[in-house]
Amino acid sequence: MSLETPRDAEELFRDFAPLGSPAVYTRDRCAEMAGTTRRIRELKAERRAVILAHNYQRPEIFEVADFIGDSLELARQATKVEADVIVFCGVHFMAETAKILNPDRTVLLPDLRAGCSLADSVDADSLEDRRDELRKIYPDLMIASYVNTTAEVKAVSDVCVTSSNAVKVVEKLPSENILFVPDQNLARYVQENTKKNIIAWDGNCYVHHQITPEQIERVRKHLPHVKVLAHPECRHDVLKLADAVLSTSGMVQYARESDAQEFLVVTECGLSDRLLLELPEKTFYKSCKLCAYMKMITLEDTRRALEEMRYPIELHEEVRTGAERALKRMLELS
Ligand code: SF4
Repeated sequence: MSLETPRDAEELFRDFAPLGSPAVYTRDRCAEMAGTTRRIRELKAERRAVILAHNYQRPEIFEVADFIGDSLELARQATKVEADVIVFCGVHFMAETAKILNPDRTVLLPDLRAGCSLADSVDADSLEDRRDELRKIYPDLMIASYVNTTAEVKAVSDVCVTSSNAVKVVEKLPSENILFVPDQNLARYVQENTKKNIIAWDGNCYVHHQITPEQIERVRKHLPHVKVLAHPECRHDVLKLADAVLSTSGMVQYARESDAQEFLVVTECGLSDRLLLELPEKTFYKSCKLCAYMKMITLEDTRRALEEMRYPIELHEEVRTGAERALKRMLELS
């Protein structure tokens, strides 16, 4: 990396920073976390529990997790775990997904405030109204919903998709007209990769939607050789500048297998922490875009979740079975 002046560095790091800042993880803080980590491990054994953690979680959560992944990997993992209790270190819709697929197990979310702006942008009643309107024009219309939706929305959908399988799943649906909810950026990305007619909902993820092409170009100017990896929830003008458009786990695989040494990781910044832990020999520049919902999950709350068995996810059986049908169809098609 070659930066010309301190001013360049200041400008560059306003939006993207190199990894490894020790600021938050002081010696005292690490000692405190070590005690909590030990207790979590004891509780996992006592409760026959596993911890599933999304790629956007904090590094200390990765340390206690039994499995780390993106939405699709965690959904798959949730069907395979041998445990009485699943602690889901992610956001609410992800814990719901684990419960949908594991009705007889206890699924805990350590902090109930961990929601998602994208999931909140569509509700089941509005979706049914829109579907009924559109079916007057497109009788074969099917609903494909991103997994970042509530269980109620999944229950009225024909199939679920994730960022890594959306194109593949849409291609396999027996319909030419697809109402795609709720992410408008992912919908546009799918439209560019299929001949089917994609009708987009107008939701977006506030974390990815705020990243601009100017931010990417500024980094590229200083680091022309950097590989830009972008998540499909980013805006179309950002995706056009990427070397690869990938889900979070796709980014991990790409960075692992690529000969390149430096990467600009254009997604929520927690993924970059995972990359630093797994590939310390490479250099990653992370977007300084935090998902406030994901970061609500702390190590201390994870311990308390196991200690006090809080907060269990509950679903009406009718909603659960409807959502399960859409999720299982996705797992079959992908
Ligand atoms: S990063 Fe975006 S889509 Fe993911 S949980 Fe946060 S708000 Fe939702």
